[in-house]
Amino acid sequence: MKRLLRSIGVAAKGIAEVMAPDYCRLCGGHLAEGERLICNLCRIRLPATDFHLIPDNAMTVRFAGEPGIVRATALFHYVRDTPLALAIHDFKYNGVPSLALEFGREMGRRLLPTGFLSDVDLLMPVPVHFLKRMRRGYNQTDYLARGLSEISGIPVAGNLYAGRPHKTQTGRTLVQREANTAGVFAVRHPETLAGHHVLLIDDVCTTGSTLKACARALLAARPDLRCSIATLAAAPRL
Ligand SMILES: [Zn+2]
Repeated sequence: MKRLLRSIGVAAKGIAEVMAPDYCRLCGGHLAEGERLICNLCRIRLPATDFHLIPDNAMTVRFAGEPGIVRATALFHYVRDTPLALAIHDFKYNGVPSLALEFGREMGRRLLPTGFLSDVDLLMPVPVHFLKRMRRGYNQTDYLARGLSEISGIPVAGNLYAGRPHKTQTGRTLVQREANTAGVFAVRHPETLAGHHVLLIDDVCTTGSTLKACARALLAARPDLRCSIATLAAAPRL
């Protein structure tokens, strides 16, 4: 019964998505013609980091000493209770994957002209375990990657997967987070990744433990890989 109710809930969310009126998902204002999900004013007001223009940025520092990482960026500052934070919550938990898709496009529009994506061969979304994906109905990072792919033309690859579920990272210290994600991720068909430059995509980076675990899994499977990182937002370090 519980399962049935949950399925109905997921279906209802899907219908809500299709029936969504033309309002901005950040400010609630009406969208003008040509605007999609986020109005132009909200786009301009997004708290841009411009990290990708700064080689030694706050994201690069999080992955310093991590072998195989070429460059790293996060597009926006993550601050709790702001329109961006609420929008991320919406596309993660409230059945609005199209918003993740639109944010992926926004990442593409901002990264493409800067050269950050040059020589990147594949986009690789950070995976969630399939049980979580079943519950949520989708993985939001897939949608971010798809949006980024639409703008950049770089294909999305699904080689990375979460072999076992891991508990939430919220409320854990850096050391606990690294232990929590160790050995979670695995790579299927590593032979197809030979010599490639892979861009890992995630929604919010806090300590970087999840992304490090993904990069380590990829490099363990293919030591000739190069890995870069782009997340939609960066939370302040713990
Ligand atoms: Zn707006």
